[in-house]
Order: sequence, then structure tokens, then C-alpha cells
Amino acid sequence: MLPATGRPVADLLAELDRLKAADLPTRGENVTAYVYDSGRPEVREAAERAYLAMLEVNSLDPTAFPSTVALERAVVAAVASRLGGDAATPGIFTSGGTESIMLAVKAARDARPDIAAPRMVVPVTAHAAFHKAGAYLRVAMDTVPVDPATFRADPQAMAAACTQDTVLVVASAPSYAQGVVDPIEEIAAVAAERNLPCHVDACVGGWLLPWLADAGAEIPAFDLSVPGVTSISCDLHKFGYAPKGASVLLFRDAAMRMAAYYACAAWPGYPIVNSTVQSSKGAGPLAGAWATLQALGEDGYRQLGREALEATRRLVEGIAQIEGLEVLGTPQATLVAIGSSTLDLFALADRSRARGFFLQPQMAVDGLPASVHITLTGVSAAGIDSMLTALAEAASDLRADGPAKPRTDLVELVAQLDLEHMDDATFASLLPAAGWETAVAPAPAGESGEGGDAVERGEAGAPAMAAINNLLNALPPHQRELIIKRFISVLYSPHLDA
Ligand SMILES: *Cc1c(COP(=O)(O)O)cnc(C)c1O
Repeated sequence: MLPATGRPVADLLAELDRLKAADLPTRGENVTAYVYDSGRPEVREAAERAYLAMLEVNSLDPTAFPSTVALERAVVAAVASRLGGDAATPGIFTSGGTESIMLAVKAARDARPDIAAPRMVVPVTAHAAFHKAGAYLRVAMDTVPVDPATFRADPQAMAAACTQDTVLVVASAPSYAQGVVDPIEEIAAVAAERNLPCHVDACVGGWLLPWLADAGAEIPAFDLSVPGVTSISCDLHKFGYAPKGASVLLFRDAAMRMAAYYACAAWPGYPIVNSTVQSSKGAGPLAGAWATLQALGEDGYRQLGREALEATRRLVEGIAQIEGLEVLGTPQATLVAIGSSTLDLFALADRSRARGFFLQPQMAVDGLPASVHITLTGVSAAGIDSMLTALAEAASDLRADGPAKPRTDLVELVAQLDLEHMDDATFASLLPAAGWETAVAPAPAGESGEGGDAVERGEAGAPAMAAINNLLNALPPHQRELIIKRFISVLYSPHLDA
């Protein structure tokens, strides 16, 4: 609730610390997903102070705040210079990978007003952000199977999926789930032969692969230097190590960027012209990204790339020694997916988390197996031995149990539920039976109160997610989607807390 009188800042910060106690770590070698730590206090300080210096500035109007134009030009030019472009390459600074992808899809769609029912051709390994863009922008998806051994997209199958209504062809460098780079040259050629734009999703790899290549890794060409690639997305809030809210979308030509823009003068207020989905937007993330790039410089990124690569090699070699675990495909970046045909991977994730390492659950889809994901950064190396020990111990504990056995009674029960029309209270009442333990942070002071004691947790305070993950994994994707939407609806309904 809103306090009747204002509270002192120390009080508020203490409360934030308390609320964050159950969060995953955001710094150090135990970070394996969601956040990227450069491990350099001076870089973090640069980002923090630059962010705060621009805290109140609004990028809505570039004529009112010319500082934002200078910063965006500098950030876009820096990224273009490493991704096959130059000082003239048109770009947009966005809030993240999803927004970059959304705008790339909008540009491709709006460049073809002659097509009434536009479609895009994507490998099944493409990021969910393309499905989201398709849903928001009404561009239908043609998802194409990938090679089941390498997890790389199949250019011939993608060519076969192109139709009269295709407005965009997509490839990843690398894909998030398995960390492998699609055959960009071939896919871009498929698109170019048909006069179609080709977007390379280098959200996670755009600011990583170039430095890995400098460190000696074999990285195929994937950027605007490849003929036929017409746009590319690169998140600075991932391997750029910038604070969240930072991505760059580059176009080969300005006409395509124009199709991403939006303007509206048909209302009585100020004429709107936006390069992004947001209109009013804080300049903090832009300043934070600019400062991080400047503070690290080429040497800094090269060093972080070398260290992340080394950490990945050690992890991949170590996993090969653990009975029951395998690395999926041949990761070309520093993202690793662990698979298993003999162990319960989601139970492995719970046990690793209890030992300090979060493994991100990834569900089976379209014939691709379930896995758990680890992203390795420049600071991961210090934790690789402990991570491998945690994985080996967890695997050994689980070996006697065999592969995951989702409860068929629950799978059948859930399959019969009318999830679309059920109310949240009914859904909430079913959660404990499905294996869900309330794992929300204790409510802030002044809210409902106790909270903390109701939190049921597994060993070492880590939530046990295996039952629920195995249940989801056993259901078709559409049902998973209905369940997880219901789930957040319940999560954001404090009155339904058990
Ligand atoms: C992270 C990621 C995205 C989505 O980016 P957000 O910043 O989370 O919106 C898209 N594609 C790939 C390959 C990614 O790794």
C-alpha cells in the first residue's frame, strides 16, 4: 500500500535487499542465465553512473534531448563496425532482443503492403520472440525442422517453405537453446534468390561471436558482410554486459529502417515519431550501454570473450565425463544445452540449484529433446570446477531413479481441464497437487504480512520445480502456454496466495 507519509531512502533500500534475498545471483561465477556480469567493478560503476546521469532524460523527442541522438549514433556505429557495417549503416537502439525482432518483423511486413496474409519462415530453433512478433503483428509462422543431430537450420527445407506470401526469412547466430550458429550464408542466399529479406538473430551472439573469433574460435561469417543478410539484431544487455534494456537492430538499407519507424500526426497533440515500440522512454539504458562499451573497449571484450570460451571448453569436456549427461550439438558460442536420455533433467536442475548453480529448463518441442541450459560469461571460469562437481553429484544422486516419469494421471487430468475458461482461484487450488510450491518472495512490509513462512522450499532453500517442469514437458506446447499464462495470473493475484 501507499504509505500515508513518505519513507526514508535507507528504509526502502533495506527492503529491496530483503526482497532480493531469494533471487538468483546477478554477479559472480554462479550466474548462469538471465544476467551477464563483466566482473569489473569499474565497468559497472561507469554503467551505473551514466545510467543515473540520464535517469530523467526522455528519448521521446530527439529535438528536445539531442544528447540521446549523439549517444544512439555512437552505440549503433560501434555495433555496426563489428557486424559488417560502417558509419553509414542504419540502426535503431531498442529495449532488448524482443523489441529488435518485433521491429525487424514489422519492417519486413510493412515493406510488402501487397501481401495480404504475410508469413515468415523460421527454423524451429528460432527464439520465441519471432512467435511473439508474429502474434502481435499478425504474420503467420512457417517453422522448419532443423538437423536433429546438429540443431542447425536446414537451408533446403527453408527454401521449400518459402511461398508467395513470405515476407521474411530468419536464421540465428547462434540459437539461444542449443547455442549453434545456423548456416547463415546458405539461408541468406535462399532469401536473396527469392528477393526476400533475411534477418539474422544475433541477439545473444552479436556481441560475443566477433570476440570469440578474435580469440581463435572458428566462427563462420554471420553478419551484414554476408550477401543477402538484410537486418541483424544484437543485444548489448547480454554479452555487451550493459544494464538491461539495451539492444541494437541494424539494417542493410535505410528504406527498411524507414518501414520499422512509426509516425502519427492524426491527433490534436504533438506529432509522434517513434523508432521503437515505446514512445516516452528513459535514456538510462542507452547511456548505460554507451558507458559499458566505452569502459570495456575492444581489449575488454576480447579478454571477456577469451575467458568465456575457455570456461565453455572446460564445461563441455567435464560434462562428457559425467555418466548420463551429454552436450546437445556442438556449441559454437558460450551457451551450452545439456541433454540426457537416462536422467531426469529437471530434477538435475533442482539439485544443481540447491548446490548454487541454476540450470534453465528447456522443454521438448517438435521432436527436439528437453534440455537444461547454461550461459557462460567472462566470469564463469572461476566457477567451472564447482559447477562440474555440482552436476556430477546431482547426476550421481539421480542415477538410481532413471529418466523422468511425469505423472500420467496428472497429464491426463490437465489435458481434460478447460484452462481457457477456468477461473484463477480454481487453477490456484490445483497447483499444490501438480507439485508447485509457493516460492514468491515475502511480501513487502505493510502488505499482507508473514508470507515468508508460507514459502516451502527444497534443500538449501531452492524451490523444487521438477514435478511441474516434467508435467509441462509432457503436455503439448499450446497447453503449456495456457498453463503458464494462468500461472502468472495467479502469481500477480495476491488474494489467491495459499
Ligand atoms: C535473448 C534472446 C532474444 C530475446 O531477447 P530479450 O532481450 O530477452 O527480449 C532473442 N533471440 C535470441 C537468440 C536471444 O538469445
